[in-house]
Amino acid sequence: MSQDALVALGRDHLYPNYRQPPFVIVRGEGSRLWDASGKQYFDLFAGIAVSTLGHAHPALAAAVAEQAKQLVHLSNYFYNQPNVELAAKLTQLTGMARVFFCNSGTEAIEATLKLARRHYYAKGEKDRYRIIAFDNAFHGRTLGALAATGQPKYKDGFGPLPGVTHVPFGNVERVRQEMGPDVAGILVEAVQGEGGVLPAPAGFLQALRDIVDEAGALLLADEIQTGVGRTGKFLGFQQAGVKPDVVALAKGLAGGVPIGAMLCIEHLAEALPPGSHGSTFGGNPLASAAALAVLRTIEQEKLLENVEARGAQLAERLGALGSKYPKLVASARGRGLLQALVLKDEVDARDVLGKLQDAGVLVTIAGGQALRVSPPLNITAAELGAALDIVDRVLGALP
Ligand SMILES: *Cc1c(COP(=O)(O)O)cnc(C)c1O
Repeated sequence: MSQDALVALGRDHLYPNYRQPPFVIVRGEGSRLWDASGKQYFDLFAGIAVSTLGHAHPALAAAVAEQAKQLVHLSNYFYNQPNVELAAKLTQLTGMARVFFCNSGTEAIEATLKLARRHYYAKGEKDRYRIIAFDNAFHGRTLGALAATGQPKYKDGFGPLPGVTHVPFGNVERVRQEMGPDVAGILVEAVQGEGGVLPAPAGFLQALRDIVDEAGALLLADEIQTGVGRTGKFLGFQQAGVKPDVVALAKGLAGGVPIGAMLCIEHLAEALPPGSHGSTFGGNPLASAAALAVLRTIEQEKLLENVEARGAQLAERLGALGSKYPKLVASARGRGLLQALVLKDEVDARDVLGKLQDAGVLVTIAGGQALRVSPPLNITAAELGAALDIVDRVLGALP
């Protein structure tokens, strides 16, 4: 079927809640993708910070193929080998003690919120369920995670969404004002991803740690976008040297195979007893084997070091683009391989995104005006350089 025919089929039959451009990606290798007409694109978005190892990585392909020949699904009624090995590995990488597996980020957040509520319920504090979260935060699309999300564009029309108080990101004083004996936890991203790639200000995560410790509440880390090495450490919180009580992971954990995980300290192991929470697909051998391959490859190929080096290359280039195009670019910001070129308010970001696609570079827009760059963690210096040359050319050709 031709590319145009495939696009027409999608337009006619997919639910129209996205705005796909008129091409169909059929294949990838490393940080490059090709559409059905044979055109090549540099992948600077990695499927929304998901394709940790890029495309068609032999270790991930082999792990999925081998596991598919052994056992794809079993349910949590029984242990399975890749899953228990993955749980052990994740506790070692994060300093957490227990892992609950699910299939997406929003499910990891639901598990986090339910764990926090039920922890206090089990302790007899039945009115302690309120969560403090932040303006511009993104935590997912199911109703609980949506309640914690701090952006009207995701929430309008789906209310009421009670139980969460939002305060400005970075404002310690406002967090203190909103704390009370009914607060179960503070939910926070180390870098607000969808909000526009906004790193937490220095000292902020530690201040939140101190506040919850004083109040006897929980620190809940949404590491769905920042985790699995994206900022240069396994967790974004590790950059700040702060240990949360709960960590939500998903996106890049299995390199593109759907997975989510809620990790917690041992103290919280009794909050969700058998029967109180679960997932049919969560922890299946296929996704677990994929995640193990991702974690092994991050170590074997020293990808955290690559994130540091490519992150520095990216920061320098984005900064230079800011100086070169001061009429278009407001700022550049981010950490590791989660960075953004923030366009001025008067620039039509969607138009720039389209022109980048035409020129063969795929990025995403976050928080309205930020062109988010979140490539595979194994992107090479040459690939990143070539892609940013194209970005430079496209910006230079804008009126
Ligand atoms: C993507 C994302 C989610 C939601 O993950 P899904 O897999 O889309 O449900 C939650 N929190 C953050 C920080 C995210 O980036």
